[in-house]
Amino acid sequence: MTPDAEFGYELLVCRYAELAWHPSEGPRPALVARQLGTQARRWDTVVIEVDPAAFERRRAFGERTIDSDLLHVVRGAPAEWEWYRDALPDPGYPWRYVRQAVHRAAGRDLIEKRRDGNRIQIRRVRPYPDWVERIVAVENKPDLDRSAADRLAEQLNHDIDTGLADEAWLATETTGEPVEPALLRELPVEAGILATDFSAGVDADAVDVAWHPSDLAPGSGERRDSETETLRLEIAERAYGKGWRSFHDTMRPDCRHFELRREGRALVPYCAAKGKLPTARECSGSCSKFSPEPPQWRTKGWPIEGGPGKGITALLERRRERERDGVAPGDDA
Ligand code: SF4
Repeated sequence: MTPDAEFGYELLVCRYAELAWHPSEGPRPALVARQLGTQARRWDTVVIEVDPAAFERRRAFGERTIDSDLLHVVRGAPAEWEWYRDALPDPGYPWRYVRQAVHRAAGRDLIEKRRDGNRIQIRRVRPYPDWVERIVAVENKPDLDRSAADRLAEQLNHDIDTGLADEAWLATETTGEPVEPALLRELPVEAGILATDFSAGVDADAVDVAWHPSDLAPGSGERRDSETETLRLEIAERAYGKGWRSFHDTMRPDCRHFELRREGRALVPYCAAKGKLPTARECSGSCSKFSPEPPQWRTKGWPIEGGPGKGITALLERRRERERDGVAPGDDA
């Protein structure tokens, strides 16, 4: 299968996960994002299972990602006013960077700051909650062949070594035949297998569990060191802010050919000029068929300020918001 199809497939898997997580254990509140991880390992689809009450408290910190520098400040901010260098753990890098992060965090109302002489003091607005329960990685290989199986085996061994993820799955498009046993033997037994059939679009029942996963790092809750916990939180924060619909950030919804099309219960990008779902890479300013939407689309007859491109972006952002509301519906959701 071509990389184009893999990109489209990934979006469908993300939407499926959003509709039907957990595939074999029954409904669990979760967030879905794509293309996240560490420098050494990038996961295709990432599912963050959350504690609903703690997730509500996380939402009180706003809708944007709290990046690693900010996390250091927000997690360490004390209940009472204190000089930030006394309050926060040694960062392992120069304190002046922490000072910048303090200003940024205060600018976003994540903490409070004040001056005491020439010292900057900080205080938390509210405790940062422990909202991440489990992190699950899904690799998307619509065509499972030997090289995909080998690569996956390598990646999963890495996941087991690092203890970053709690569970891993392979999603592969069903051929109507049982998945070839020789290929299955190549895969680590810890990885679950999702057999997908998206021929009629995405729905909760478009996927069967062909193999159940096992915990990648049993008992790891107690065993993980604080560095790994912090890394997991950074990934979860990126997932929270980004979601999986952020393809509009890198693609060109402002091109007159850009559309969203329905695939069952998923909305995916579509290029009317090319007659297909474009990849994130080809749908860029350097695309030879790129054609900016005409200025009059932005002024006349179009109900959303900024034209259809802005409208598509706003629609995708609203969907992300709605999904986050649905994860843990609070009183004001
Ligand atoms: S013509 Fe190019 S830039 Fe425009 S929607 Fe298609 S792929 Fe994207």
